[in-house]
Amino acid sequence: MAFSHMSRRTMLKGATAAGALAATSSELFAQGARRPAPLPPRREFVIRGATVLTMDSNIADLASGDVHVRDGAIVAVGARLNARGARAIEGRGMVAMPGFIDTHWHLWTSLFRPFVRADVDAVGYFPVSNRLGQLMMPEDSYRSVRLGVAEALSAGVTTVHNWAHNVRSPEHADAELSAMRDLGIRGRFAYGPAQGMPDDQVMDHAGLARIKRDWMPNDGMLTLGICSRNVGAMSIGGGARGTLTIEMVKKDWDGARALGLPITVHTSGPSPVMQLEEAGLLGPDLQLVHPLLTTPEERAILKTRGVSYSTAPTGEARRPSAVGVIQLGEMLEAGVKVSLSTDHTTNYNCDPFVAMRILFALHQHRIGNKIPLTVKRLVQLATLDGAVDLGIADKSGSLTPGKRADIILVRTSDINMTPVGDPYEALVSMGQPVNVDTVIVDGRILRQAGKFTALDHARVVREARDAAMALRDKAKWPT
Ligand SMILES: [Zn+2]
Repeated sequence: MAFSHMSRRTMLKGATAAGALAATSSELFAQGARRPAPLPPRREFVIRGATVLTMDSNIADLASGDVHVRDGAIVAVGARLNARGARAIEGRGMVAMPGFIDTHWHLWTSLFRPFVRADVDAVGYFPVSNRLGQLMMPEDSYRSVRLGVAEALSAGVTTVHNWAHNVRSPEHADAELSAMRDLGIRGRFAYGPAQGMPDDQVMDHAGLARIKRDWMPNDGMLTLGICSRNVGAMSIGGGARGTLTIEMVKKDWDGARALGLPITVHTSGPSPVMQLEEAGLLGPDLQLVHPLLTTPEERAILKTRGVSYSTAPTGEARRPSAVGVIQLGEMLEAGVKVSLSTDHTTNYNCDPFVAMRILFALHQHRIGNKIPLTVKRLVQLATLDGAVDLGIADKSGSLTPGKRADIILVRTSDINMTPVGDPYEALVSMGQPVNVDTVIVDGRILRQAGKFTALDHARVVREARDAAMALRDKAKWPT
């Protein structure tokens, strides 16, 4: 890839320029600068005899069908396809479906798993990530994102929106993008502020422009946006993500929009929708995160403006009800675009099945049949709707001929799944990441039989742990 060498060089240059590198970080960086294992090639193959869930309203699901893939694209979907010469992949006993699309994930915090406690506020997600995040070098970012992306792929996630709100230098962005590219996942990189950055400091638009110049466009796998600090009011997390006045929001967002880049922002705490509307800042290039506290009037505005909302149910369900409830039913009823996300993996794991299950449970608990919610709609939320949110529905999110081949095979013969009746019911009510047998991104088979085909899994784990422990020592944790 043309940018491969260049980006590595930029990373190295950045690390040197940072000057104050501790010896340990230097060594870690040097290790990370080794070339990663090449991605598996895009071959021609045909998945035979699977239960095919297309998520395309114009293409019927098949109880037993085939998916033909060539040069990274879906060529055909149907029964007993004529695909002579294509390598056959056994699909019997499996569901073939589009890969999950995760629309908000702070991959840079994946390293903090050993330190974060779900039940002890002092070492909760925000204090730990805020403190250790300020010590991260580009190589730490690389290893953290690589660990998170490896987990994403293992859970059947083929696209991730990397919500990178600890871009301490453009070289940190290079590192995060490199990790995404090296593992072969599709995604958007949302360039953010750095942990500890003053709220009256405008985001680094020059760095953002440099990243855009060096990384965009590419082979179609990665896109770019920004993630914004919070708007208006102190929110959950004690303001660790930063909290901006509407004037500062304008400055940050105008700079991103001048570069043609989309924006994402959390709305934890009091809803900023009316403030953003009055400032003329809402638009279809905006994604909000955590649909918890909106009013009917605000939802009508969001629909009109084409704004989307990402819900991360596993974390949201842990929040006190005082900061709102997951308004999935209300959003769907109002016609607001909604998608599904993991948020982070420091005190829970990536599990799109559980995310769908929690959404369904809480919807039934609070609303029930007053607003119908089907299990199929939940699978759509986790696939096609994510592609719509990220603006990539022309290339991913459904098994549609002409789209890129982002496909997963989920084993339905496993003990927790079998015997299967309605496949959507099985996925939402019974599915687990361990059932994800095969993961294909852009026609590359990245996982098969539940294992990575090329990635050195042990190395990813070892180097993530080493980086986490080095950060702990650097912070003189836990004092
Ligand atoms: Zn988040």
